[in-house]
Amino acid sequence: MNKHKKGGWSQMRFNRLRKGAIKSFLSEVAEDLLESCTGQETRGLVVAGPGTAKSQLLEILPADMGKRVLGVVDLSIDATKRELLEIGNEIALADERERSMERAEELRSEILRGGLAVRGVDATKAALAVGRVGVLVLLKDASVPGWICERCEALEAKKRPPECPICGGPTSTVDVVNELYELAERTDAEVEFVEEDPCLASSEGVGALLRY
Ligand SMILES: [Zn+2]
Repeated sequence: MNKHKKGGWSQMRFNRLRKGAIKSFLSEVAEDLLESCTGQETRGLVVAGPGTAKSQLLEILPADMGKRVLGVVDLSIDATKRELLEIGNEIALADERERSMERAEELRSEILRGGLAVRGVDATKAALAVGRVGVLVLLKDASVPGWICERCEALEAKKRPPECPICGGPTSTVDVVNELYELAERTDAEVEFVEEDPCLASSEGVGALLRY
């Protein structure tokens, strides 16, 4: 388009038409995006490409989609699909790390001020059992040996007794952290894995942010 002769009324008209064409193209992109994300679980959006069209696209994205933009990247129009995927993964991973660090921070400060949080296996198990857990926070690779009752689901981070002291049912050896994870899934709690955190490390690698 830049090869066109410059100047005069026709140039002004041309610029206006060109702006209109870009805008309607971007609206089409936004609509396509909305359509392909509907009904799918997406981790987020990365807007990539050359030039200034990226910011124009961001302006016309519906607000709830705009909120899901994890990054904006300058990229050649010739970038391969593979490059796009690599960049997307990098950005998503960085976002995940940041999120889990925020969660760990939130857990720490709630515990310090005696707010809506618990830590350690016993307190976390008790909160999960009554559905109080909003987010189960686990230290990556945390593992606590213990036992579970096959009948009443009593769970303890102790050596397995031959039979459940509560109901007399059969017991089996389990990783308690694993059991907490499954309990979280069943009670619709989110689960957040944290790379490293001294507060969690000193409480068996387990903690939870509470709903109430
Ligand atoms: Zn039992």
